[in-house]
Amino acid sequence: MTTTPSPESTAFQAALQVIADVEPAVAAAIGQELHDQRESLKLIASENYASPATLLAMGNWFSDKYAEGTPGRRFYAACQNVDTVERLAAEHARALFGAEYAYPQPHSGIDANLVAFWAILAHRVETPALAEAGVKNVDALGEADWANLRRALGDQRMLGMSLDAGGHLTHGFRPNISGKMFHQASYGTDPETGLIDYAALRKQANEFKPLILVAGYSAYPRRVDFAAMREIADEVGATLMVDMAHFAGLVAGKVFTGDEDPVPHAHVVTTTTHKSLRGPRGGMVLATEEYAPSIDRGCPLVLGGPLGNVMAAKAVAFAEARRPDFADYAQRIVDNSRALAESLLRRGVVLVTGGTDNHLVLADVSGVGLTGRQAEAALLESGLVTNRNAVPGDPNGPWYTSGIRLGTPALTTRGLGTAELAEVGDLMADVLEATTAVGDSKVKFTIADGVAERVRARAAEIVGAHPLYPGVELV
Ligand code: PLP
Repeated sequence: MTTTPSPESTAFQAALQVIADVEPAVAAAIGQELHDQRESLKLIASENYASPATLLAMGNWFSDKYAEGTPGRRFYAACQNVDTVERLAAEHARALFGAEYAYPQPHSGIDANLVAFWAILAHRVETPALAEAGVKNVDALGEADWANLRRALGDQRMLGMSLDAGGHLTHGFRPNISGKMFHQASYGTDPETGLIDYAALRKQANEFKPLILVAGYSAYPRRVDFAAMREIADEVGATLMVDMAHFAGLVAGKVFTGDEDPVPHAHVVTTTTHKSLRGPRGGMVLATEEYAPSIDRGCPLVLGGPLGNVMAAKAVAFAEARRPDFADYAQRIVDNSRALAESLLRRGVVLVTGGTDNHLVLADVSGVGLTGRQAEAALLESGLVTNRNAVPGDPNGPWYTSGIRLGTPALTTRGLGTAELAEVGDLMADVLEATTAVGDSKVKFTIADGVAERVRARAAEIVGAHPLYPGVELV
């Protein structure tokens, strides 16, 4: 008996055939990627699996269209359809997050942060300078005023979470442009608890007097009190910018509400759209009305033409996230993360902050004599895909590290539940206990006989029970 293939199968199959007719190696690599992702037990906290509708919305004619500007106000003609998808993406985003304003153009999280930094500088530094000079735009400034403005733009302060405490490299890390364009200072976490110490942060902010206070993280396993952050920002006259790239799905799914929801508290919120939010790879900025005009000038400020095809996919993904089942998904992410953490703790694995109350877990493997790099490689050999990450005050730095970061958004999308995540924790602990560093090496290690093979086989069974993209069959 033959069964009719699903619409997704037909669509992806046809697309691959069209691609294969031009460059078969690319079609083969795309097919192989699906195969590899299906086989992998992915605990990478920043990854997920977008829906077929979101993926398919990206491959189309919007890719051919220039649309610099904003809907209804473009630098190019014939942008009516890009206007439609950009407006839809922004409308869905505003409704989803309860934001006054949404800008879905940034191509990535880093782009979103750059747009936000420069828009805040424009609003706080450039606009008052133009008003003082009595002109409307920078082109009308005389040479001396222009030189003064450029100096003032390059002379501002930003306070963000340090990389080793869980902040992102765009929050003021010197090798990143954010560390070069601002006088920058970092806040860490309490050495005893691993938690943000709001009293210490208040004191530091009062001494440092930043123009921008950045909250948000890539590797902090706890929730943040954004109301407290806003109070501190107001006290020192700072703009509060929250980078919710990692936990946007938990905000959208109403797991983070009240003081834990950044949107009502921050002046500007940036995000990626591809992590816990489960959309296409991209970025977005949300803001209050006050900051909207500056952010709308993301092009020509930082960006060129927006990716209309990706904005179409953002609109689809945001529409999905507005459905009631997304809230259930977001809650399951956190339940799974807790189950994973509890299982690791039962086995004596040390966790930064002693656990989690969001989508990620940060294990400190230094106690078992491994670097993060060794643990990451040993786990990968055993079929568990994780990534190494610095822990607070990490003696091994950001390359070798002493930590392993784990996240549950992807496995939760596949349908794994708390019992399976608890078992995954046990499998991880089995591997870590069986792994030994070779001499003083930060890279080489051995795994006791048979452990990697056994864990790999069980990991394959676990993911095999939860097929990825079950509606998609490639022949
Ligand atoms: N902000 C945070 C907090 C992140 O974790 C990341 C990515 O890891 C980014 C920004 C950058 O996102 P992208 O890789 O899309 O530029």
